[in-house]
Amino acid sequence: MKAAFITGHGGNEVVQVGERPVPQRAPGEVLVRLRAATVNRVDLYMRDSGAGITHRLPQIMGLDGAGTVEAVDADETRLRPGQAVVLHPGIACGRCEFCLRGQGVLCTAMSLLGEHRDGTFAEFVSLPAHNVFPMPEGMGFEQAAALGVNHLTAWRMLFTKAQLKPWETVLIFGVGGGVSLAALQLAKRAGARCIVTSRYADKLQRALALGADHAIHTPPQDVAKTVLALTGGRGVDVVIENVGAAVWASAMKSLVRGGRLVTCGATTGDQPGADLRRLFIRQLQVLGSTLGDLSEFSDLLASCARQPLQPVIDSRFTLDQVHAALDRLESGAQFGKVVIDVA
Ligand SMILES: [Zn+2]
Repeated sequence: MKAAFITGHGGNEVVQVGERPVPQRAPGEVLVRLRAATVNRVDLYMRDSGAGITHRLPQIMGLDGAGTVEAVDADETRLRPGQAVVLHPGIACGRCEFCLRGQGVLCTAMSLLGEHRDGTFAEFVSLPAHNVFPMPEGMGFEQAAALGVNHLTAWRMLFTKAQLKPWETVLIFGVGGGVSLAALQLAKRAGARCIVTSRYADKLQRALALGADHAIHTPPQDVAKTVLALTGGRGVDVVIENVGAAVWASAMKSLVRGGRLVTCGATTGDQPGADLRRLFIRQLQVLGSTLGDLSEFSDLLASCARQPLQPVIDSRFTLDQVHAALDRLESGAQFGKVVIDVA
């Protein structure tokens, strides 16, 4: 089968497109014929370093994906050959302390597609039936593929971690990135008021068209001052951010007393000042989050089935154009998901 895989680490030269064996489906697994996948920041990390992530080379890239069931156990009742499906990329061990507690997302032996095992930039992938979900009706393969990492991550941040309420205001940093746009879409569907930030005026215009209530252009605008002006001096209830050090101080200053900051990334640095006095006097909560578990993915898909959701697609590439797709994400110029059309 055709696949895009890394043969080493460091730049686009280590990414190859070529033939790899079709995965052997183990009992309990589903062999999926992929139709679409999307590029995530971790694909760039695996290409450039992969440090700290146990993996063997060559390894097929790609975390999220959607396609059709190619082969499944004869006694499988939930999925049938030919069915359209979407994938949860994290395979939990089922046996560690955290899995036994029902928190597979904290699994100490989590195996992620495209990180610890072969991923979705390929014609086929095989993974446990637990991780394979029927695709919500009314969604295309490209949009469904986008749910598995970014929307799942945003879902957990907003609804599990921050416990966002419909009457609250949320500040989303760096709109245009996959998680930030997903958070905007999901928070608006939940009825919350959304303030977004970006360095790019055109991204802010597009976010406003998607339903954002206010846009902050940084620079020249100061985030915390603008947020306080927009909220009558109060501040926001929830901050969603994955930018890290560059925005941490303004994120903390933008929160109302008792507010919640949820972070899932640190692209500009992971050692900002803690601002402890503000943290305890104003009784703020800082919450870390990564991906989401199977039940959260199931809830996200149920929500999509009830109320159509169209993840924003920035651009489309074929498997042969994977280098250009990775460049597009790395440029930071994208607005929404960079899709790999596999079929
Ligand atoms: Zn586990």
